[in-house]
Amino acid sequence: MKIYSERLTNSVFAAVVMLSVITITACQEDEEVVEEIEPREIGYSGVEKELWVYFDRFEEEAFNRGITTNLRTANITGLIDEIDEHRVLGQCNFAFRRFGSNLITIDEAFWNRSSDRGREFVVFHELGHCFLNRAHREDTDRRGVCLSIMRSGTGDCRDNYGQFTRNQYLDELFNTKFVDDIFSQ
Ligand SMILES: [Zn+2]
Repeated sequence: MKIYSERLTNSVFAAVVMLSVITITACQEDEEVVEEIEPREIGYSGVEKELWVYFDRFEEEAFNRGITTNLRTANITGLIDEIDEHRVLGQCNFAFRRFGSNLITIDEAFWNRSSDRGREFVVFHELGHCFLNRAHREDTDRRGVCLSIMRSGTGDCRDNYGQFTRNQYLDELFNTKFVDDIFSQ
């Protein structure tokens, strides 16, 4: 050790010190992991795991717009399952109809063929019903483009949910002017 330290340049010496620090840190982390209880993944009870990322995003986007959400306590369950009805991509069943909680179902075939954006669109749409109590909104701009992701899909408007329009659509989704409008239909 003596021989080495005499020959070491400052920078090499510094690197050795750094390495020691990293090693020590790593050792400490390892020790902590051993003692730590297995971390529990925080998800959404009764909601299929693949949907969690979209529930997280929904909460984040709501928060960014000043709306408080807690989908973990909102009594909403979610499934990816076969929906028999032709061209139906998702459903929201309200608790009073069949279940003890509002149930979101996303069509499995749609899910499997869809991009992240497509999945987000449909999950957000159903949360628009099941969580925000929004009704369908078919309004369009002058070119016939849907103004809302709450369009029914049976109307004439064209969807335009994409990278550059997403923010605008989410502003509309969380707009308090429309939230709860299912009760005034
Ligand atoms: Zn709908």
